[in-house]
Amino acid sequence: MATRLRRDIPLLDLSAQHTPIREEILSEVTRLIDSQRFIMGEEIRQFEEEVASYCEVGHAIACASGSDALYLSLIAAGVGHGDEVITTPFTFFATAGSIVRSGARPVFVDIDPATFNISPDRLAEEAAKRTKVKAVIPVHLYGGCADMDPILRLSRERGWTIIEDGAQAIGAAYKGRPALGIGDAGCLSFFPSKNLGGMGDAGMMSTNDDVLAGKLMKLRVHGETGRYLHKWVGTNSRMDTLQAVILRVKLRYLDQWTAQRQINASRYHRQLDGADIPVTLPQPAQHQTRHVFNQFVVRCAQRDNLRQRLTELGVGTQIYYPVPLHLQECFRDLGCREGDFPEAEKAAREVLALPVAPGLSGEDIEYICAAIKAFYA
Ligand SMILES: *Cc1c(COP(=O)(O)O)cnc(C)c1O
Repeated sequence: MATRLRRDIPLLDLSAQHTPIREEILSEVTRLIDSQRFIMGEEIRQFEEEVASYCEVGHAIACASGSDALYLSLIAAGVGHGDEVITTPFTFFATAGSIVRSGARPVFVDIDPATFNISPDRLAEEAAKRTKVKAVIPVHLYGGCADMDPILRLSRERGWTIIEDGAQAIGAAYKGRPALGIGDAGCLSFFPSKNLGGMGDAGMMSTNDDVLAGKLMKLRVHGETGRYLHKWVGTNSRMDTLQAVILRVKLRYLDQWTAQRQINASRYHRQLDGADIPVTLPQPAQHQTRHVFNQFVVRCAQRDNLRQRLTELGVGTQIYYPVPLHLQECFRDLGCREGDFPEAEKAAREVLALPVAPGLSGEDIEYICAAIKAFYA
């Protein structure tokens, strides 16, 4: 490493996305400012149509964030006090936070160590013990789909609603079926670091169910069913039209950016597969017909030391997620303990996200891989 020039490789540098389309975005934003249509309107409607078509789903309903998309989907499905909702403990906080916001109680089920997603076998075991479950939220973590077929079978048997947390997985596919239209409802986030990121917060709900879609459209505006008439209590969760304008431009580049993520992932495999180091690269499951690599996450020995070394060498990394949700202080009253979900806990100790975003060069990834090999040498 001594002979190489030090590089600065942040985990995510959005300028690679934004610089080439800066003028395009600015002219759309200018047009919006002149139109004064800052709330809802045609831009939102068109963006919803474009996302529905991109995800091959009947309806897409814009809202203020991915967290709200989860919350509104739950209440639209009738989830509330006294209900249980099953999800994974190895996800971003919002997945379980939204369950609590709905009034229901989260029930965690351990992950499949190969995919980091909810284990269908553990799910079936948990289902056998429970009678109050109303919904399940599989998460397509890092951009790879959860194993949906067994989840679908079990949910149909049990009458559960399936809400896909696809915040990290726009464009991902499971056995050729696009994420977000596989379950009863799907949730997207356009947080800036997602594959399709806005310049602020924004989210989207998806469904093939016309009735559910109608309800979601009302719930995001306080459940208003007619002028100042409210059939349900929703919330104010509109997407800013400004975000829709920006996201509509960015959506046109999404496939190109996803292809770059996939190329970057394959560069890691080319350089690290077969290297004699205690690092396990993601091995997309057979059902994973399109992994979109929101994150490229490896498992590794001496994770914290490796991370420290990479930081010193200018390489940005992150841990998604260091504390599984069942061990979070705010969920203490659920009564979970360390050891309850050993695979999630093990993953939390071993995972490290390496840079994979569009804009990285082959040399950047060579530099990162050389640094990793040198660390274990
Ligand atoms: C980002 C994310 C969310 C929440 O989305 P926000 O738009 O930040 O509210 C929910 N679930 C997962 C898995 C996420 O990665």
